[in-house]
Amino acid sequence: MEEIAPGIFMIHVPLPHNPLRELNAYLLRGKPGEKDLLVDLGFNLDECEDALRAALAEVGGGAGFDIVLTHLHIDHAGLLPRFLTRDRLVYSGAIPGPMLRLWEEMSDPESGLQFLTKNGVPPEMLKAGRVPREFRTDWKEILARGQFRELREGRLLACGGYEWRCLETDGHCDGHICLYEPNARLLIAGDHVLGHISPQISCYEVGSASSLNKYLHSLDKVAALEVRLVLPGHREPLTDCRARVAELQTHHMKRLEEIRRILSRGPQTGLAVTEQMTWAINPDSDRAFLMQQRFFALGETLAHINYLIETGTAEMTEKGGLLYYGLK
Ligand SMILES: [Zn+2]
Repeated sequence: MEEIAPGIFMIHVPLPHNPLRELNAYLLRGKPGEKDLLVDLGFNLDECEDALRAALAEVGGGAGFDIVLTHLHIDHAGLLPRFLTRDRLVYSGAIPGPMLRLWEEMSDPESGLQFLTKNGVPPEMLKAGRVPREFRTDWKEILARGQFRELREGRLLACGGYEWRCLETDGHCDGHICLYEPNARLLIAGDHVLGHISPQISCYEVGSASSLNKYLHSLDKVAALEVRLVLPGHREPLTDCRARVAELQTHHMKRLEEIRRILSRGPQTGLAVTEQMTWAINPDSDRAFLMQQRFFALGETLAHINYLIETGTAEMTEKGGLLYYGLK
């Protein structure tokens, strides 16, 4: 743990067996008598809980803390059920229904996972893609039990002399938020802007608004800010926010170009397109992990295809229960 700005502590929460290695949670210490804010939590695992509780015991104030979730992915919000109490508020962006529905389906061994089947995923791969038991999250139960407060664009959160402004930054997932402090020029970025890693952009419903389009808009929003230090959800803080945003924009433009080239060979399923693309995958990864990566890769591919559809370059047709994508 380190104090990276006065009263702002970065807590390294281990993410066992995961290439992200760690989640960065942030404790924003309140003034005496004021609650602290804890930003993001980790997986629903003992290792994550122990690391967080140890850090809170070391630096937390006496008035307790409320929770802010930059988004509802399990490496950030999975641990929430263990931290819910009656008097603890949970701030989050808008709750993304389609994403929660897909998570629910992936956790249900009986579900047919129609969305994935239609995109060419065969039954044996579906089985491997089920969410492992320890990562299953019953969002209905959590939403009913937690004292949720929605943070929307421009909403202010005061803590420890800082005034954090909420930015809605859909893209990495719907309902993603960043917190910006204009005086200290700090940006708590969640997974919107990461160094070294390109934040995953996914797709849960083809034909819905393209998450890549949303992501690119959200990057423009962040590029317009004066930022001295980006506090990301993974890996080290970044000092040059604009340069990193530019790199991410270029990365997605290249991906779109690659997919356009693949689609020029004729209409194909989402999985077929995914398997022709180049992915940076660690060859030492185990089988289960590789399978999981194929799902992430498919989501990423569909998000880009969806962007091409939305901007009039590609089209989707349905044949024999499968979706095919081609150039217009
Ligand atoms: Zn993350």
